[in-house]
Amino acid sequence: MLKVNHLSLTFPGEREGLRAVEDLTFELREQEFVCVLGPSGSGKSTLVRVLAGLLRPTSGSVHFAPLRGEGRPPRVGVVFQQANLMPWRTVVENITLPLELQGVPLEAARQQAAEMVELIGLQGFEDTWPRDLSGGMAQRVALARALVQDPDLLLLDEPFGALDALTRERMGGELLRLWQARQKTVLMVTHSISEALLLSDRVLVLTARPGRLALDLTVNLPRPRDEEMRYTAPFGELARRLRAAIV
Ligand code: ADP
Ligand code: MG
Repeated sequence: MLKVNHLSLTFPGEREGLRAVEDLTFELREQEFVCVLGPSGSGKSTLVRVLAGLLRPTSGSVHFAPLRGEGRPPRVGVVFQQANLMPWRTVVENITLPLELQGVPLEAARQQAAEMVELIGLQGFEDTWPRDLSGGMAQRVALARALVQDPDLLLLDEPFGALDALTRERMGGELLRLWQARQKTVLMVTHSISEALLLSDRVLVLTARPGRLALDLTVNLPRPRDEEMRYTAPFGELARRLRAAIV
């Protein structure tokens, strides 16, 4: 679905500028769930922004292949670290916004938004203003706003960073369900090794700045996975390899 080839990005600045990511080469296959781990400042958010088309690489390339069987390029949905909701729109109006921009009639848009509200578990908060939401709730609205456009590739930048541990597990489970049921491809930045191992098919580890690919690890744990798996030997072994690669 996606080929990233020798991707580098340097932010302009004094002297030679700030090298954020350097020489990244990897592929995403359709319906893969890939997590990205790396220390703070290793260029994870920069990578997400490049893949979302919001930043232009300094060198190298990002190539989207047409979808199998459909022939059209994949639709890409993004959830950033900050929810960035429109403060003058309610929860449901924030979720319908991308549909309205596409010209979907309001009634149909509200119907789809209602399904998303249920998915993210915010029933009863449809008419709430963003300022009255907790950080975690706002983040879930941002996820719903991305999902309502039915993206083929979902880019998630630490989407559960502001959530408490239990909500985080629940959202991870919801995301897995969605990924399986709707056949999405997911690239998700996280700082949690166990979250990466419970969710993904592969984990990419970036080095400290500039972000280079330190490890591309296949997670061959059987599915469905549950929290109990954390205590098994294969899980521990993979966790050890990830921890050793994050420097
Ligand atoms: P991460 O998400 O892994 O914490 P980022 O991609 O946010 O890392 O940032 C990587 C590096 O690039 C950091 O040193 C950060 O300060 C720098 N950086 C990020 N965005 C910009 C920008 N718009 N201009 C200049 N430097 C930036
Ligand atoms: Mg970041």
